[in-house]
Amino acid sequence: MGKKITVVGGGLAGTEAAWQLAQRGFAVRLYEMRPVRHTPAHVTDRLAELVCSNSMGSALPDRALGMLKNEMLALGSFVIRMAFKHALPAGQALAVGREEFAEEITDVISSHPQIELVREEVTAIPGGPTILATGPLTSDALTRSVQSLTGPYLYFYDAIAPIVTAESIDTSIAFRRNRWDKTGSAGAAEGDYFNCPLNQAEYEAFVAALLAAPKIELSDADTELERYFEGCMPIEELARRGKNTLAFGPMRPVGLRDPRTEQRPYAVVQLRQDNVAGALYNLVGFQTNVKWGAQAEILRLIPGLRNAEFVRLGQMHRNTFINSPTLLRATFQFKERDDLFFAGQITGTEGYVGSAMGGLLAGINMARLLANKPLMQMPRASMSGALIHYITHAAPDNFQPMKANMGLLPALPKRIRNKQQRYMAYADKAKQDLDSYLTHMEFAPVT
Ligand SMILES: Cc1cc2nc3c(=O)[nH]c(=O)nc-3n(C[C@H](O)[C@H](O)[C@H](O)COP(=O)(O)OP(=O)(O)OC[C@H]3O[C@@H](n4cnc5c(N)ncnc54)[C@H](O)[C@@H]3O)c2cc1C
Repeated sequence: MGKKITVVGGGLAGTEAAWQLAQRGFAVRLYEMRPVRHTPAHVTDRLAELVCSNSMGSALPDRALGMLKNEMLALGSFVIRMAFKHALPAGQALAVGREEFAEEITDVISSHPQIELVREEVTAIPGGPTILATGPLTSDALTRSVQSLTGPYLYFYDAIAPIVTAESIDTSIAFRRNRWDKTGSAGAAEGDYFNCPLNQAEYEAFVAALLAAPKIELSDADTELERYFEGCMPIEELARRGKNTLAFGPMRPVGLRDPRTEQRPYAVVQLRQDNVAGALYNLVGFQTNVKWGAQAEILRLIPGLRNAEFVRLGQMHRNTFINSPTLLRATFQFKERDDLFFAGQITGTEGYVGSAMGGLLAGINMARLLANKPLMQMPRASMSGALIHYITHAAPDNFQPMKANMGLLPALPKRIRNKQQRYMAYADKAKQDLDSYLTHMEFAPVT
């Protein structure tokens, strides 16, 4: 059926996209550079290798990743079907036998009559119908080629800051104010930032805990990243430079008074709104590479964050991603070229399931483009639609990868206080909207 479609990257997104196209009768050439060229994180030559944890998160239908997986199954996801096939006992989460999972995906893809698997590094963006799914560890040569297309809009972050849900911030301690009492961006008198005030003893206890905390080990290839720290320094590195470095840096209190005392605190942790709905806040300047268990514990020492619910913890690794809000359509097409799709973590959809979701939709939409059918745009109230909306509409200046989470969903018409009931209502709404959308689009999944 027509000319071959190129898919670059045999990870979670690339294998999903290739399979979707092949099952619809299209001929696909899938490039995977391993084992000819390695990445700093993959350790095998298998396709769809899970680089770190073997968990694909919650399987519950009213949790973000559970919703996302169910939506993907409704669309006929190959990767999620394989993950459930190779599930391990893990309570309410989907843990995957990583070797069997990757082995079977490799077998299916490499023996598919419609797929030609080429073990070669692609060094420039190919012409013709192309899906680029090379992930956060895209090779250097291809990164340069992507950059020539995206201009300055390609990011290479070493360290990222944690994000908490707004409802888990203790507002009896954290106060809303901008520095120097400047009015908020929407003219709101209360200011844009939440500020968590620390007295000297609290600050010193926080710094001591940070200095004692274990760091995530970097692979040898990634230790070179430590050279890039100056512009994006992790808080533990700042703490190591001197006991007050943080108090003069990201935790500086200048221009802020605690409304309870009208005094300037000794130090302050600022939180900035992270999503359009105001449901998520990130800790400003709090990039960190402290191990995740210890990290959550230490961050909860901050007054106002004792019960913080983290939707993302800080981490540091090579992470190449494009500025999707300026470059991508909600169909995963590059704005400037109809037959070029980006998919997976390179678009800023963080995590295994979110990455596979991008491959699923890019594959389906490439098939629809070539068949002259209208392209799919997931409903805004579905988890996939909410995540795609985020990556295509977030503020471009501060854009960073995001994983599926309930805070991305549009508010329900009626406020439901009980969290369990609220999540269930979100999940019901998502399912209803998706079902009617798939009927409207006359969508039939391939099996
Ligand atoms: C170190 C690290 C740990 C992570 N841990 C987790 C975790 O525990 N849980 C989680 O949910 N997410 C995690 N992620 C985030 C993300 O979910 C994974 O990176 C996920 O694998 C992304 O899927 P992908 O398909 O976009 O990219 P990948 O799965 O990385 O697939 C991209 C593929 O493209 C290939 N490739 C790259 N460049 C080229 C080229 N020029 N030519 C040909 N092939 C190329 C690569 O070899 C790779 O196989 C982690 C990311 C990193 C970097």
